[in-house]
Amino acid sequence: MKNGIMMQYFEWNIPADGKFWKKLKDDAAHLQEIGVTSVWLPPACKGTSDKDVGYGIYDLYDLGEFNQKETVRTKYGTKEELIEAIQELHKYQISVYLDVVMNHKAGADYTEKFQVREVDPNDRGKYISDVYEIEGWTGFDFPGRGETYSDFKWHWYHFSGTDFNQANGEKAIYQIMGEGKSWSDGVDGENGNYDYLMFADIDFDHPEVVDEMIKWGVWVAKELNLNGMRLDAIKHINEGFISQFLHAIRQVMGEEFYAVGEYWEKDINALKSYLEGIDYQIDLFDVPLHYNMYQASLKGRDYDMKNLFSDSLMLQHPEQTVTFVDNHDSQWGSSLESQVQDWFKPIAYGIILLMQKGYPCIFYEDYYGIGGKKSPHRKTLEILLDVRRTYAFGEQQNYFDHPNTAGFIRLGDEFHPDSGVAVLLSNGEDGDKTMFVGENRKGEVWHEVTGNIQEEVTIDDSGKGKFTVHGGKLAVWVKKPVESKEQP
Ligand code: CA
Repeated sequence: MKNGIMMQYFEWNIPADGKFWKKLKDDAAHLQEIGVTSVWLPPACKGTSDKDVGYGIYDLYDLGEFNQKETVRTKYGTKEELIEAIQELHKYQISVYLDVVMNHKAGADYTEKFQVREVDPNDRGKYISDVYEIEGWTGFDFPGRGETYSDFKWHWYHFSGTDFNQANGEKAIYQIMGEGKSWSDGVDGENGNYDYLMFADIDFDHPEVVDEMIKWGVWVAKELNLNGMRLDAIKHINEGFISQFLHAIRQVMGEEFYAVGEYWEKDINALKSYLEGIDYQIDLFDVPLHYNMYQASLKGRDYDMKNLFSDSLMLQHPEQTVTFVDNHDSQWGSSLESQVQDWFKPIAYGIILLMQKGYPCIFYEDYYGIGGKKSPHRKTLEILLDVRRTYAFGEQQNYFDHPNTAGFIRLGDEFHPDSGVAVLLSNGEDGDKTMFVGENRKGEVWHEVTGNIQEEVTIDDSGKGKFTVHGGKLAVWVKKPVESKEQP
């Protein structure tokens, strides 16, 4: 992962035409060219329909292979096309991480009758009804797949809760009753106990479930030759299970098998305690940093840039941090909508791509655009990706010392000739800052590569340069190549 760049290769609204795996295959060479070293694929298992993004998951063993839910393919294509896309990515040394949705199952084949108690949605430990029987969608026998790959059939006792009673058409959070049934420990404490998220909630305290899910994890990692996983909704899953699951997969796939968890929580303490609980076996997305960037983008010059990294995972556990600007959940119209405003995106990407800490993840929409509309950020991203690979090496020194104009330096290293970069950003007026780039750099001429500033800077005898930035912009300065007088 050294200086790696991940791309989240999907957004919520891509067309449900079954052509996405093919598009990805055709794009592999280009992804390598721009510097992407790993892709996070959307959930590839059969969902409730051929339009399901994949989080409404029906059958984990159906990767677009069986006629189920009135379709063989998924939203993205067939299993064969998926495997071809992965092979192509591997040909270009790009690692592949699958989005793995384990918290729940949707679109059951039939209803079953079982005992429940309703709980208070805001305090799941509190019962608001007596025990009574409902008819819930918990029977999964996968008629289209039969017993291929697995003969496991799901029943009500493999789940801990559900939210719809077919008998009377009512909705509530129903905790399933029975011997040994309860919400899991080792989940987030929000709403009393956040085991239940949606659909039929899988009971990870049930030994048959634990065995079956581990068996599936090993199967899918081998079947698709994965390099890693992005684990969906882990704040709703028993952390002890996640630990066991990864251990089993790494025994088969190797210790370097990568994992990043989606623990959607602004509170740094929840992230820290999760990492500790799971013995630092996975990375987490830096959700607090995302929200700081979101706030900064909303508040404009009223946001004090000195606070941008407050309570971020990047500062506390840099080795376990995946930094990102936006994703399919934060984009407009999504469940956790908190999209960073366009004007701030170059600044945000300048930070995650050029700083020393964190494993940056670029969002598909920010590079490819949305709904056929081109992204305004593509060019900037390509410039930043190039700077990351050519110049962004060595120690980092921060200049987050002013509410509106902030900067940082990468000093470069001996392995990358002329490496080193000076980054300046402003959320207010035009600004400037004198920053130290190294005594050995005196006399060098540096230029700005995003096109923001035309003037050049000469490094003075003490190794400092006076760099400038326009208001509301990002400026990225590197040593100007000696051979060429042309701007890139
Ligand atoms: Ca759960």
